[in-house]
Amino acid sequence: MWRSGCRAGVLLRRLNGRSASLGAWRWASTTACERALLRYRVGEKIHGFTVSQVTSVPELSLTAVKLSHDSTGAQHLHLAREDRNNLFSVQFRTTPMDSSGAPHVLEHTVLCGSQRYPCRDPFFKMLNRSLSTFMNAFTASDYTLYPFSTQNPKDFRNLLSVYLDAAFFPCLRELDFWQEGWRLEHEDPNDPQTPLVFKGVVFNEMKGAFTDNERMFSQHVQSHLLPDHTYSVVSGGDPLCIPDLTWEQLRQFHATHYHPSNARFFTYGNFPLEQHLKQIHEEALSKFQRIKPHTTVPAQKPWDKPREFQITCAPDSLAAGSSEQTTISVSFLLPDITDTFEAFTLSLLSSLLISGPNSPFYKALIESGLGTDFSPDVGYNGCTREAYFSVGLQGIAEKDIQTVQDLVDRTLDDIIEKGFEDDRIEALLHKIEIQMKHQSVSFGLALTSYIASCWNHDGDPVELLKLGSQVAQFRKCLEENPKFLQEKVKQYFKNNQHKLTLSMKPDDKYSEKQMQLETEKLKQKVNSLSPEDKQQIYEKGLELQAQQSQPQDVSCLPALKVSDIEPRIPFTDVEVALAAGDTPVQYCTQPTNGVIYFRAFSSLNTLPEELRPYVPLFCNVLTKLGCGALDYRELAQQVDLKTGGLAAAPHVLPDDSHLDTYEQGVLFSSFCLDRNLPDMMHLWSEIFNNPCFEAEEHFRVLVKMTAQELSNGVPDAGHLYASIRAGRTLAPAGHLQETFGGMDQVRLMKRIAEMTDIKPILRKLPLIRKHLLNCDNFRCSVNATPQQMSQVENSVDNFLRTLSRSKKERKPVHPHVVEKPAPKGPGRHSPFTRKLVTDPTFKPCPMKTHFQLPFPVNYVAECIRTAPYAAPAHASLKILARLMTAKCLHTEIREKGGAYGGGARLSYGGIFTLYSYRDPHSTETLQSFLRAIDWAKSGRFTQQDINEAKLSVFAAVDAPVAPSDKGLDCFLYGLSDEAKQAHREQLFAVSHEDLVDVSNR
Ligand SMILES: [Zn+2]
Repeated sequence: MWRSGCRAGVLLRRLNGRSASLGAWRWASTTACERALLRYRVGEKIHGFTVSQVTSVPELSLTAVKLSHDSTGAQHLHLAREDRNNLFSVQFRTTPMDSSGAPHVLEHTVLCGSQRYPCRDPFFKMLNRSLSTFMNAFTASDYTLYPFSTQNPKDFRNLLSVYLDAAFFPCLRELDFWQEGWRLEHEDPNDPQTPLVFKGVVFNEMKGAFTDNERMFSQHVQSHLLPDHTYSVVSGGDPLCIPDLTWEQLRQFHATHYHPSNARFFTYGNFPLEQHLKQIHEEALSKFQRIKPHTTVPAQKPWDKPREFQITCAPDSLAAGSSEQTTISVSFLLPDITDTFEAFTLSLLSSLLISGPNSPFYKALIESGLGTDFSPDVGYNGCTREAYFSVGLQGIAEKDIQTVQDLVDRTLDDIIEKGFEDDRIEALLHKIEIQMKHQSVSFGLALTSYIASCWNHDGDPVELLKLGSQVAQFRKCLEENPKFLQEKVKQYFKNNQHKLTLSMKPDDKYSEKQMQLETEKLKQKVNSLSPEDKQQIYEKGLELQAQQSQPQDVSCLPALKVSDIEPRIPFTDVEVALAAGDTPVQYCTQPTNGVIYFRAFSSLNTLPEELRPYVPLFCNVLTKLGCGALDYRELAQQVDLKTGGLAAAPHVLPDDSHLDTYEQGVLFSSFCLDRNLPDMMHLWSEIFNNPCFEAEEHFRVLVKMTAQELSNGVPDAGHLYASIRAGRTLAPAGHLQETFGGMDQVRLMKRIAEMTDIKPILRKLPLIRKHLLNCDNFRCSVNATPQQMSQVENSVDNFLRTLSRSKKERKPVHPHVVEKPAPKGPGRHSPFTRKLVTDPTFKPCPMKTHFQLPFPVNYVAECIRTAPYAAPAHASLKILARLMTAKCLHTEIREKGGAYGGGARLSYGGIFTLYSYRDPHSTETLQSFLRAIDWAKSGRFTQQDINEAKLSVFAAVDAPVAPSDKGLDCFLYGLSDEAKQAHREQLFAVSHEDLVDVSNR
């Protein structure tokens, strides 16, 4: 994988982790952290390492232990914290000087087998032999990172062994380089008469990445602003330069960069440090001598005057307004990121400048109506040795480039004169406070990403973690000098000559020209070949194919057994009580670290058909348009000051036992510190009772941003769009899923964004509101600590009493409503009823669609209607999907087909999907799907294969769940722990016979 640039608000977003992923987080006590503080002393020697620092970081409930390895100089940072989801990572400083993609190809190739584990693709193989909660590798601009996490100690040792061997003792065979990097091969490798073409996983991955205009723009900002050294090249590889990389260069790059003297090890969690150090020393470091790695990035020479550049890109046919697709940004070079406090100050300053509707750049640029959204990577970027700040617009007309530049300059002058409102600074510091307390499931991963860049340039990672003292220092600076921030703006923006203006405009011939360049490159390579070379290429192509088709012996890899899996899940206690008369509220007591999580679900059953396509837009703008006495700016201010965010999103929830039955509604979610609960509930009450749907200009701004975001998201999520589309006609819920989140929605938003008169759309919002924002069909859920519960009960009750109720009962639009009681459990006296809709006359109708998208790669999906969650066949199909992915589709689609990814997956709603991702083929992939199904029917797999598939399914089933999300399945899907346990037992019981049986149905 390759990551370019990084996003605005890095600090906050990183620490927050990825909220979408479910991960396991257990907050018991501070024991691991306390133990570490008492246990380690500076100067102490442990397994070849010496402790250099032991620091308590109470704001993150952890103890940091810094060590260095005596004979190689390798550095190690351990963060002891009472978290079962332990993480390891090793990071190398990789600073390429050309765009041949050496670090990226290397990142892929080291995973093709190592001395102790000579089998191909140990990561993918380990996915089936482990209960890992995360395994991956990233190539950033100047480092390569290999992280994994798991909750199981034996698994940790297994994975550590595989990771160390892959990084330090990889085989790096020539054929691996061919497969993962690039190669010349006949279009049909078996037929030497077919033309020679470029193939290779990284080659295709980067071709895909380069079709993403946002990413391309970010890359150009970085390389033009920092032109002196490694940042001027593409670490992931430019598709036109990748074919210049040789196998020998790759091996050389490994020898000089993947060395302990150039490595930083990181461990996190509650497993003992000694064990980690012993294993790292014995299996890797003890076999090396210290070297001097020449990987340091020198400081960028500052410019004496600003620079400007123009680039072109392919037009985006999904975005609104084809004549207004120019992007422009202005960027400023900032100080070295190892100056921790200055970096902290500048990242806060950057949030004040660009975040939310109250920020000066939002007002000046977004509300100017000149463009659709900010330019990519807007804000503070701290992923390079010297940080930088960018601001600009995308979706503008070419003639407005100068206007945007003038607006940027004028806004900066304005800030230097007026400064920032105190309330906005308070809101930002509140945000840091709540993010520190909000427990994400992948906290270890968030921490390793957060410190990676600074540590990479020998900054102090522990200083970086001390957020509490940085906030205190920041407050002190503001007190001592009220113009503290204004002076920074003057110094780093106004008076900074190292300033880059970059613009990008669409060129209709762009893709054609790129193709032409690739063809020329190919011609040049092919013309230089002798007949012997050609013969060799043909033979190597066959050899590669043979190697890929060979059954692999993976017995060398360590593995957990099915018996290592916990037979039972821990049950989560939830209680349901009625509030304000008859609204059910689910209470789930959790160690939430003082944060309160409030959610509500409202049914869409009475909403007329013609309003449904507008529900996602309604949800998107509901909490952003103002309410009661608050205009949209004041509302945004209150949301930032009092909550961790208010959100609404449409949901289609399939039933666990009937494929044609589902629940439809909108989920409202929010969280806050306990002192702010009354304020947060008051905001919800105002939004529900007095929403404002009049701010037409602001509505237009939001519409444009939503449409732009949707369109920008398609390249990354093409396989999901393809899957939703393919499943559309297979179950009644499918159609609604397409309406809410499929290509239909992308196209609708494009149409709305292009409308000259937006009032007719705005007028639909109050109509939707009537059906949605009342407590007719409503339920709530709360996750909080036991001490907070009585306060929460009162607040929720008060909130519900303010809600309106329809005078007469509204008729559901859909005639067939099934009332389903929520599961009964111990201590649950008043179960609530969910109103699902069903369609007894529904006939699934398989059909084919092809979308022409402006990318040179494909996303292919095929869906099959199967069995719902509660059916035993569902368990078999879940194992089968994993089995087909690991044993068949991965080889066919990725290794042989050259796609970035592919596999099979079963949705909760019983739709079985075969898919590919960034795929150079389409009809061949559909053939592979058919072959995979035949393979499954034939039953040509072993008990070992089945056990591996089970491990990998359980790794997902047992993924950690944050305290904020416990009990959510019960609340949304009515899924009880008993039902989950029953499903678990079905998964354990799946046999060879069951798998063949479901394949044949
Ligand atoms: Zn990659």
